[in-house]
Amino acid sequence: METPENEIFRDSISTVTEEGKRAWVYPKKPSGKFYEYRKWVSYLLLAFLFLSPFIKINGNQFLLFNILERRFNIFGFPFWPQDFYLFVISMIIGVVFITLFTVAFGRIFCGWICPQTIFMEMVFRRIEYWIEGDRGKQLRLAKQPWNAEKIRKKGLKLLIFLFISFLIANVFLAYLIGSDQLIEYITDGPTSHISTLISLLIFTAVFYFVFAWFREQVCIIACPYGRLQGALLDNKSIVVAYDHKRGESENGRKKFRKNEDRDALGYGDCIDCFQCVNVCPTGIDIRNGTQLECVNCTACIDECDHIMESINKPKGLIRYASEDNIENKTPFKLTARMKGYIAVLTILIGLLTGMLFLRNEVEATVLRLPGQLYEHKDNNIISNVFTYKLVNKTNKDISDVSFKLLSHKGELKLVATSDDFTVPKQGMAEGTLFIEINNMVLTGDRNKIKIGVFKGDELIETTTANFLGPRRFR
Ligand code: SF4
Ligand code: SF4
Repeated sequence: METPENEIFRDSISTVTEEGKRAWVYPKKPSGKFYEYRKWVSYLLLAFLFLSPFIKINGNQFLLFNILERRFNIFGFPFWPQDFYLFVISMIIGVVFITLFTVAFGRIFCGWICPQTIFMEMVFRRIEYWIEGDRGKQLRLAKQPWNAEKIRKKGLKLLIFLFISFLIANVFLAYLIGSDQLIEYITDGPTSHISTLISLLIFTAVFYFVFAWFREQVCIIACPYGRLQGALLDNKSIVVAYDHKRGESENGRKKFRKNEDRDALGYGDCIDCFQCVNVCPTGIDIRNGTQLECVNCTACIDECDHIMESINKPKGLIRYASEDNIENKTPFKLTARMKGYIAVLTILIGLLTGMLFLRNEVEATVLRLPGQLYEHKDNNIISNVFTYKLVNKTNKDISDVSFKLLSHKGELKLVATSDDFTVPKQGMAEGTLFIEINNMVLTGDRNKIKIGVFKGDELIETTTANFLGPRRFR
């Protein structure tokens, strides 16, 4: 079946030509109220992104995701692999929150907060406008042969892009290995840390590829969140939308003619000037309706508002609105689906808050040494050997640490260390210990024992382990 003419746009994507080649998008430089707001939001987010690894709270990096050493700091709070459950709940909260937000407000995150859009539209694209000029000049430059002007402009642009990609790669590394480590590597000289240097160059190449070449295709083709829109949006979601009722009226859109009474002739307010298409960084025509490619960047709202102003029509032909709002003037209200997400989100946040309060600052694990049975000693004493691991999540050394057996009368002996020791701040102590209990006290071949971790006389953590003994025959 042939595609109806007004649906043809669905058969192709804006970044690929009919021959299957890359269609470069040269968007017009946006201007207007929303673009100004977005600039301020981007300055804040860029400052946050670049400064976070260099801000310290109680000596902890504000944000750190050291996957290799399994150390994570979130807002200055250190987290360990032992806190993985908190990480999982935070991730679930993040997913539910984004889902709720998307159901209510569409892809607003992409246009205002996503680092890809912030860097692409607010950093790289603005440098491009500065060097190559606005859309018209960029198009002319692309078509002209490689003369001195083109080589100079393209060369300068790509050099600056490369430098910024290198800068982003350094900040990215500061999140991964820590800013102190990064500064140390820089002062040592990059050749002293060849593997880190190679990683840095790979990151630089990836960022350069994304922002100089791949660009808006990240949002159109690669981003999984973009793909989810089809499942999450409905007629009640507020998105950047063209008011087709007003724009098309009874007889459709039509070019503007001075002194023509469009209302009397039944034409809509859209004067088919294509400015909303020219300004779109993903190269789409928002008048075709909500599309997966739309990152809700608001550039077309600003541009259409300028046009409406110039022809003395009310602004807002393209605006934040839901399909229901455009069709029936229905105001925004919470749907049952949104209420459901809010309920789940509230429960999860409550759960996470409770777990954060209950989270131990010291975590002890005592496990029986694998492959070892019990030993039957003199005086009917049964001995088991264990390994222990003590994690100190605080910023202070914990000294005078000792173990005591709480559940049974017996003896606990540490191997190769004194009975009280120190666990370094944000560090770990591990080793081996023996526990000896009289066979008379044991109730079976598997006995659950409770061990206390003390700082001086203060009990700071308890843990349990299995203690093996001889099998009982009746
Ligand atoms: S900018 Fe406004 S008037 Fe111009 S084509 Fe787009 S919707 Fe129509
Ligand atoms: S359609 Fe409008 S809001 Fe969507 S990406 Fe294009 S310019 Fe941005």
